[in-house]
Amino acid sequence: MTVTVGVLALQGAFFEHIQLLKKAAEQNFLPDWEFIEVRTPQELERCAGLVLPGGESTTMSLVAARSNLLEPLRDFVKVHRKPVWGTCAGLILLAESANKTKKGGQELIGGLDVRVNRNHFGRQTESFQAPLDLPFLGEGAPAFPAVFIRAPIVERILPHQKGIQTGETELEETVVAPSRQAKGAAAEAATADHVEVLATLSRPASQIATQGRDISPDKELGDIVAVQQGNVFGTSFHPELTGDARIHAWWLRQVQAAVNIRNKLGQ
Ligand code: GLN
Repeated sequence: MTVTVGVLALQGAFFEHIQLLKKAAEQNFLPDWEFIEVRTPQELERCAGLVLPGGESTTMSLVAARSNLLEPLRDFVKVHRKPVWGTCAGLILLAESANKTKKGGQELIGGLDVRVNRNHFGRQTESFQAPLDLPFLGEGAPAFPAVFIRAPIVERILPHQKGIQTGETELEETVVAPSRQAKGAAAEAATADHVEVLATLSRPASQIATQGRDISPDKELGDIVAVQQGNVFGTSFHPELTGDARIHAWWLRQVQAAVNIRNKLGQ
C-alpha cells in the first residue's frame, strides 16, 4: 500500500523538501511512497506524515487559518499524533511557546514542549552555514552542512503539562499553543512527556565575543537546534536547502515505524 507524506505548501521552501524526500525514498528503497503538497484539509487527511517547511511562520499561520487548515493541523499533530517534522519556521509552529511575537501576530500548532527564541542569530544578513554533528544519523556520521536563516533556537525545554503551558502565558510578546488531547491507542503510543535534545550548535567563544554578547557557557555555547518529542521532530536549520538527504532518509524511517505501529493497532 502506498504511503503518502505531505509537505505543507502554503509558503516557504516546500518544493525543496519534496525533492529531498524523493531522493531519500530512493536511498531507503521505498518505491511505494508518494510525496504531495498540502494546501487543503482533504490533502492533509491523506497523509501518514507531514513536513512543515522553513519560510515565515507568521505568514504560514495566517494562511493556514484562512485556508481552514489550522485546526486540522492541530488534530494531525496533537490529537492523532502522526509524525511531523518542522524546519525553521516549521519548528516555530510546532513549539508550545514562541517569543518575540506581537499580540495577535501569529498562532501556533504546538506539539513540542519547548519555548523557541525567534531570529536567535539576528537578521537575514547574519545567515550562516555550519558543520553540525548529528549523532542520531549514526556513529561517526560526517558532519551535516546546516543552513541557518533567521533561525530560531530552543531556548527552553518546558515541563510537560496536559493542558496549555500556563507558565508561558504570563510572558510578554510570547504566544502559546492551544491544548489538544491525544486520542486512540496509536496516538497514545506516539506521545512522549519528555523532549529529547538531538543536536546543539556550539560556537567558538571568540565568535560570540565579537558580536558583543555576554558569554554564558551553558547557554550561548550550546544552542539547541534539533529536538524530538514522541512523533514530533524539529530542526532550527534547513536540510532542504542542501543536497544532503540523510535527515530526510532518517525521518522517513521514523514515519515507516509509525505507520507499522498504526497498522498493528488497526487504526
Ligand atoms: N524567522 C522566521 C520566522 O519567524 C523563520 C525563518 C526561516 O524559516 N528561515 O518564521
